[in-house]
Amino acid sequence: MMERLLLIKYGEIHLKGLNRPFFKRLLRQRLLENMQDLHCRVQELHGRVFVTGFAPADEPLVIERCIKTFGVVGVSPAAKVEKTLEAIGQAAIAELQAAMQRDGQTQCTFKVKARREDKTFSPNSDGINREIGGMILQALPQTRVDVHRPDHLIQVEVRDGAYVYAQSIQAAGGMPVGSSGKAMLMLSGGIDSPVAGWMMAKRGMTISAVHFLSPPYTGEPAKQKVLDLASEMACYCGPIRLHLVRFTELQEELYEKGRHEYLTVLMRRSMMQIAQRLAEEEGAKALITGESLGQVASQTIDAIRATNAVADMPVFRPLIGMDKTEIIEMARRIGTFETSIRPGEDCCTVFVPKHPATHPILEKIAAEEAKIDLPRLIEQALERTEHMIIQPHQ
Ligand code: ATP
Ligand code: MG
Repeated sequence: MMERLLLIKYGEIHLKGLNRPFFKRLLRQRLLENMQDLHCRVQELHGRVFVTGFAPADEPLVIERCIKTFGVVGVSPAAKVEKTLEAIGQAAIAELQAAMQRDGQTQCTFKVKARREDKTFSPNSDGINREIGGMILQALPQTRVDVHRPDHLIQVEVRDGAYVYAQSIQAAGGMPVGSSGKAMLMLSGGIDSPVAGWMMAKRGMTISAVHFLSPPYTGEPAKQKVLDLASEMACYCGPIRLHLVRFTELQEELYEKGRHEYLTVLMRRSMMQIAQRLAEEEGAKALITGESLGQVASQTIDAIRATNAVADMPVFRPLIGMDKTEIIEMARRIGTFETSIRPGEDCCTVFVPKHPATHPILEKIAAEEAKIDLPRLIEQALERTEHMIIQPHQ
């Protein structure tokens, strides 16, 4: 009898006191959703969460899905074997061999660390460590024991069966999606906003997204890019409700009638008002943007203040203190970078002014907005919004 399974380590959920059962239930639900097509089971036993029931060939895929599930801190692929020293020893040898192969080692040091939940099992933990250590040394003479700084730590847990594992794969961390309410992400086709959404989803927020496009100035590839980005984000966040707002008429009005150096901030303010309306409609309680202080003209403190002035709900800007290089590094890690750098025009860059005001003044903005029928244009844009649900690209 030998079964492969994954032992799930979860972090901050421990801190949540009375909410703990809620968080744990949510974590299990998210794991199940992320692996729907792989027919796994997610079980809880003695306060531990396990993923079981997958085909051995699917193990790498199941691991990948688990480490993308927020709330999971680490994943240990394990063998569950009979509670006999012989079976535990064989499993331990196999785990260590696999670990050496992964690390390309011809020799290594190890330590066995046993825990006995089933106290009727004999020998005790120290005994198990010694016995299993001895079996490994005999089978793999190229290995040595090092109890202080071993290359590989082989863990054995004796419970309803014996669990043996040697690997702990780091996962995304954070909190399960759905534990911190919902927010509306302003998703452009750029590098920053997907990262911003990812960061807030990591803190347990359910993410909806809004994208502004201006056909025919923006084309089909630009739209497809946003759909692909949302789909990549959905691998972590779960299905994403996406709103595609037709921004053309509003932009044209602003371009025709407004002062060009104020164009960007005026567009930003209308975007934010529309995003807020969509957020309210579906119960999202905050907006998220990918702004980073000083990165471009629209992201100076005065420009941000001018944009922020139209918002009644919190606007989360998780990248505000990050450098571009740091953001790029994160985008690569979460897998959105390659899509973000695909060609595709953004509606903001189509109507970009030559000399954008870096210190827009609120009174002047009001005067600009008074030149057009902004409320009507906003209603019109909302009416022409396309709504869809984006699934993870699995
Ligand atoms: P990004 O890489 O996210 O596009 P950026 O560095 O290009 O950001 P801006 O173009 O100034 O910066 O956009 C700032 C933020 O405004 C974006 O991060 C995004 O949240 C929002 N935004 C910009 N354009 C759009 C759009 N077409 N649709 C939705 N949101 C947008
Ligand atoms: Mg952009």
